Amino acid sequence: MKKILLVEDNAASRKLFGDLLVRAGHDVTLSDNADEGIERALDTRFDLILMDIQLPGTDGFTAAKLLRANAITRDLPMIAVTAHAMRGDERRILDAGFDAYVAKPVSYRLLLSEVERLLGEGARQRQRAVGSP
Ligand code: MN
Repeated sequence: MKKILLVEDNAASRKLFGDLLVRAGHDVTLSDNADEGIERALDTRFDLILMDIQLPGTDGFTAAKLLRANAITRDLPMIAVTAHAMRGDERRILDAGFDAYVAKPVSYRLLLSEVERLLGEGARQRQRAVGSP
């Protein structure tokens, strides 16, 4: 069992993704906004964060950059969930610090395989391409 933080403002998606991860055997913490999610991530040692990009207030891009700038969460695997219309934004998502992204409508099989892949890799020494010269 791994500890996963799920940040998603849409209640239906939050329940769907949350239930999916629980059924996969994980301990899931839910948050509906990025500011609370960041607080949780700094308080609790998670193994992975799954975060929606389009959130009220602080969005997923900004949240990912903040998490990558903090030593506590710098190496944490992070997956973005993106709206269908944002499929052209892969580069921006990866540049913000996410390791992977899954586009809505989300394929549960793809989501779970990405979660398990990144959990298998674990926190690692990231090559800090983001923001470096
Ligand atoms: Mn959203």
